[in-house]
Amino acid sequence: FKQHNACNAFYCRLVRYGCRGAFFCVSIFSHYNSTMGSAPSTEVQGSQPQTRRVASVPDFRGSGSNQAQSASRPTGRQTTETASKQTASTSQKQPAASQQSSSSKPSAAPRIIRGGRADAIPEVRDPNDIIFETFYHSSGKNFTCMFVNDVRYYLDSYKTGEWLEFPLEWYSEGALEVDDVLGGSEASAGQGGEAPSGSNAQAVNVEISEGKKDEREGVIKIPGKGVFQTYIFEHRRNVHCYYDPDESAWIKLPLKWELKTDVAKKLVRQTQELCPQWRDECDLLASLRASNYNVEDCINTFHATQGTYGPEVAAGFEGALSREKSIIMQNENYDEMAAKLTTAERKLERREVRVKKLEEENNYLKSKIAEVEELLATTKAECSATIAQVEVLQRERPVTAKSRGGSGGGGASAAAAAAVAAAAAAQTQETISKDELKRLYDGVKSMHKVYLQLVSETKTQKEFTSKKITELKESMKRLKQCGSVTEEQIEEVRTLYRREALQRKLLYNQLQELRGNIRVFCRVRNETSAKMSLATPNDQDVVTVGGNDKKMFQFDRAFGVNSTQDEVYSVVSPIITSCADGYNVSIMAYGQTGSGKTYTMLGPSPNPFSNPGVNVRAIQELFRLCAERKDTTDYTMHISMVEIYNECIQDLLRKDVKQVDLRSTGTKVTLVDITEQPIGKEKDILDALDQGTSNRKVAATKMNSQSSRSHLVLILTVIGKDLVTGTRTKGTLTLCDLAGSERVGKTGATGEQLAEAAFINKSLTSLGQVFAALRDNQLHVPYRNSKLTHLLMPSLGGDAKACLFVNVSPNESNLQETLSTLLFGVNARQVALGQAKKNVAKK
Ligand code: ADP
Ligand code: MG
Repeated sequence: FKQHNACNAFYCRLVRYGCRGAFFCVSIFSHYNSTMGSAPSTEVQGSQPQTRRVASVPDFRGSGSNQAQSASRPTGRQTTETASKQTASTSQKQPAASQQSSSSKPSAAPRIIRGGRADAIPEVRDPNDIIFETFYHSSGKNFTCMFVNDVRYYLDSYKTGEWLEFPLEWYSEGALEVDDVLGGSEASAGQGGEAPSGSNAQAVNVEISEGKKDEREGVIKIPGKGVFQTYIFEHRRNVHCYYDPDESAWIKLPLKWELKTDVAKKLVRQTQELCPQWRDECDLLASLRASNYNVEDCINTFHATQGTYGPEVAAGFEGALSREKSIIMQNENYDEMAAKLTTAERKLERREVRVKKLEEENNYLKSKIAEVEELLATTKAECSATIAQVEVLQRERPVTAKSRGGSGGGGASAAAAAAVAAAAAAQTQETISKDELKRLYDGVKSMHKVYLQLVSETKTQKEFTSKKITELKESMKRLKQCGSVTEEQIEEVRTLYRREALQRKLLYNQLQELRGNIRVFCRVRNETSAKMSLATPNDQDVVTVGGNDKKMFQFDRAFGVNSTQDEVYSVVSPIITSCADGYNVSIMAYGQTGSGKTYTMLGPSPNPFSNPGVNVRAIQELFRLCAERKDTTDYTMHISMVEIYNECIQDLLRKDVKQVDLRSTGTKVTLVDITEQPIGKEKDILDALDQGTSNRKVAATKMNSQSSRSHLVLILTVIGKDLVTGTRTKGTLTLCDLAGSERVGKTGATGEQLAEAAFINKSLTSLGQVFAALRDNQLHVPYRNSKLTHLLMPSLGGDAKACLFVNVSPNESNLQETLSTLLFGVNARQVALGQAKKNVAKK
């Protein structure tokens, strides 16, 4: 009994510190058990606990509830005792939020609920409600439990949906936690004096060496507690913690304590040296936290806020405007660079064409020279042959003339001369006539002339060609030089472009971060005929009307009953650019069944494409962005569609709807063998959505469930290859139409419905816990508590951007659910960063 009480007290402490991870609880419990010297707890893994099996699944319909209770209890007396014991333990074990819910005081003036403080939780429970819980057994196993009509049950198996009575011995072997969708409230206390958030000691493995002084390491003296070691952990975001030996855990330092640490003091001093006008140390440190302890970033944020609006006026996300301006300038710069790059590339192209032309000309001239030289050689040969012939003829001519001159001499000589003449005549006749000789001579003469002409022409041609070649060579040399200069210029422009593109992405990302990585919007369903319980007086607030206790809820944007699909889409469209830039982005719709989640995400039924919702518009925008960037980036897109029902994930794009496994390594999560359909045009999206929706109907009918009882998740993968730099980016857009958040756990539900309700409750609770852990910068974010949050892990936290729509009905009859949904929304809403946050609070 002593141990039981100690366990409860310890558990309460854990809950107060906001620790929900099963792993954490188990590790602390083991530590607790070993330090208390108690006997090790019963091993549950492998063997089922000593428990009485309930004959059938409890049926709580109508008056049957009492019968069911008596059937599941051995005797009336024993039951009362057990029940009161259990009630006592439940009230002891419930987190502060649910305990405080009953102490909520109505007030006449409207209250602004910003952080979802525990005192703001409205009365949403009635005594017949079923409370869903999770039991963390010290063995490491978790069980889904429910507490109804003073009896606690646990779910034996997801498949059978069988509820068994909670074994008494388990109270000393683990801890119970209420799966309250609004349960994240108590962790959201303001930064000034919050209770330290717990952390998973095992999640961080720090080694602080004695010799080497680590800049992140320090000590803190806490009055009444002693001296503690401190350390700034780097886990997605840096978190400054102190080590509490009592709990063997690193615990996040509250702001006021943190201010006392040397490390923080130094950072604050450094910031103040550069920004002397920033006097408020608390505010400064909060901003430093938000800037990941980066002094430069912190100062930039400060200047961005101060520069544009001045310290008094800067509110909300107005600081982002100056960023936006700088983005526009960067974009202009980037466009200029891109234009320069294109001009330089075109110039180079033209030069290359010219070089090619000149080379062709050169080759042509070379062949021409060869031809002329050949012709010259032939002519030369012909000439020398003719000259030789002429010389022979000339040698022969004087002999003939001599013989003719000697013909007037003596008789003998006359006879001889006659004989010679006859012989000569005969020879002349035999060889060549005089005319012919003359003709030949003229021919040779003209040929010689031609020869001389050709020689001079060839000489001229040769001179011309060699001149041309020299010219060409020179121009080639010049061009080559020009080419290398252009290459250098292009490389320079390319580097600049790369830097600009990266800068643009980073600035855009910073802008989105300034707006908050988790943005929450509220949409009130169009329902004018009903008695209205809600109003949207401006574009941020939703107020309750009609009752005395008026409440006001503030969101990043509130959409009234007349909002259009286009207006609603406009608030999420900026994060679509982030997706194309390679970030993980998610958009979710939360609310009770019939509040307009599917209308917002997909469109009106039965023909959603007549006025498409966020899904189609976001994908269309992605197409538009990809087309716009096609000169610089090559994009490919794939779509997958899954449904999460009773903690099972079904692939909806297969013909035979199949269950798929979820695997994760580090922060990467993969759906094993999931169908990924390539999409290149709008019709592909519509086809995929059609196929997924009809498969969902088939699966729902098979399982005898309704589509509103499962989460529908659409995953779009966008891979971009930068054509200039060659870098690759991968972004995902996860669109999630969540299951109805209404409390089905009334005493009218049947066994199957109860299991279904328990799973929905569990996953939505986990979602709320994840938001709370992210908002509070906790070291341990309980993503693995449900399939939904596990699947969404890469799209929540870190650099990822998430948008949450909380859909509500204005109908008075839905007020309880509406309040619960609105509260979930304000709890999830991430507080704006540093300076801006303070100004919002002032307003
Ligand atoms: P949920 O998905 O939350 O269960 P639905 O989106 O299916 O709810 O909405 C229920 C009904 O209300 C549908 O017929 C839908 O067309 C209609 N509806 C929801 N929101 C609006 C709105 N803003 N304007 C007009 N009709 C709406
Ligand atoms: Mg729906």
